[in-house]
Amino acid sequence: MSKSRLLFVASEVFPFVKTGGLADVAHSLPRALSGEYDVSVVMPLYQSIERERFGIVSLEEGFNLFMGGIDYPVELYGCTYEGMNYCFIYSPLLCDREFLYGFPERGYEDNDVRFGIFNYAVIELLKRDLYAIVHLNDWQSALVPLLIKQEGTIATKSVYTIHNLAYQGNFDSSALCKLGISPEYFTMDGLEFHGMVSFMKSGIAYSDRVTVVSPTYAKEILKTEFGCGLDGFLSYHRSKISGILNGIDRENFSPLYDKTLVQSYGDISGKVLNKKDFLKQLGLKGVKKPLFIFIGRFVNQKGMDLLIETLPKMASLECNIAFLGEGEARYCESLKTIAEKHSNVHFTIGHDEMFSRRMYAAADFLLMPSVFEPCGLNQMIAMSYGAVPVVHAVGGLVDTVRDIGKYDSEKLSGFGIVFAKFTERAFMNAINRAMELYGEKRKYSEIADHNMKCDFSWTENVKSYLSIYKKITR
Ligand code: ADP
Repeated sequence: MSKSRLLFVASEVFPFVKTGGLADVAHSLPRALSGEYDVSVVMPLYQSIERERFGIVSLEEGFNLFMGGIDYPVELYGCTYEGMNYCFIYSPLLCDREFLYGFPERGYEDNDVRFGIFNYAVIELLKRDLYAIVHLNDWQSALVPLLIKQEGTIATKSVYTIHNLAYQGNFDSSALCKLGISPEYFTMDGLEFHGMVSFMKSGIAYSDRVTVVSPTYAKEILKTEFGCGLDGFLSYHRSKISGILNGIDRENFSPLYDKTLVQSYGDISGKVLNKKDFLKQLGLKGVKKPLFIFIGRFVNQKGMDLLIETLPKMASLECNIAFLGEGEARYCESLKTIAEKHSNVHFTIGHDEMFSRRMYAAADFLLMPSVFEPCGLNQMIAMSYGAVPVVHAVGGLVDTVRDIGKYDSEKLSGFGIVFAKFTERAFMNAINRAMELYGEKRKYSEIADHNMKCDFSWTENVKSYLSIYKKITR
């Protein structure tokens, strides 16, 4: 029997482009689903994507999208990469930009039209071929469920995954007209949000099922503290919302197969060479001192304010600290100033996949004091590379990291240092516990080795998606 078709829609997919965890998930989840479904992944063909490297070619299929009274030209491109089918949407307004979404502090002003084009192009694909399921991700593809309804002839069922509720795709009400959406949808139970047009609300209101990326986050977003103004709306729709933990691709994130490392390794004894080389490259001294790393977006969500507040105290300890990331200018400035003052703090600005992997391989501890964290992949990657995470007890961090106080080698979960109160004191206490653990060499090695053996892959969690697909297509 031939498999049913599934269209997986994302605004970024590794290895073509990546700004964060969505790209990793859009790379690994479709692979995990392809055992049961005939999966195609669709994304925009941004100008930064290396067409030749990935064998991306024109499918010789172009059309004009009519949206809000204007015709937008669209061309379809495609490739098969590592056995997966990818379709790319090219339209100049959507794709020919320096960044994917805009600057760190604000998105491009015409993102409503840009991603409107993307959503309408997905509708065109659904009209051309018969798909059982369309799986949408984040606000950039969240209009699709509404457009399916507005279209009226598409039988495809939709699943909408929220990777981060804080990015909702809210635009001035004039977007309604530009997007060619009927005013009947501009209501409180539709996509109206405080007088604005909310892409996110369309995904929640009109999809057949909503998922968020961890069970704890699924509970948190129903509360005011984490709901980003949508807690009431989400509570109303709670019967169709599930929390499914993200996984990581075992082969992609394995120190045993990672070709970017100085030395591949299967247990933590193999980290030493990687650490030595990394410290040397950065000019940091003391291979015997614990190395703490931070990799991620320099934004409030990732705990930047707490980190910057705590950093001078932390730097006075016998340790090294290395940062990699990009984001808001004020955080870059503060980190730069602290790094200039302390020889054991290093700060690299930018997005560099290869460098990040060398950091994971070198690290003893990963810092992840997020204010909120829908799932978080960094901690899972770090544990796979034999590091111990130091995390704030929120969202997916709760679901993936148990405190070392409860360490049990029989347990299949990862272990780290978990702090509950979001204060400088609690964070500093967690750092001191990390320093102590590092002092107990045998215990540290046992825990880091245990983390490396844990299974953070999709093997189990993908079953929850498959079960949802089955339910809605029955
Ligand atoms: P986010 O909230 O940004 O999506 P996640 O923890 O879910 O955070 O995923 C982040 C992913 O992006 C991980 O694969 C991480 O290694 C990677 N990453 C984040 N910042 C950088 C950077 N500056 N350079 C390289 N990789 C990065």
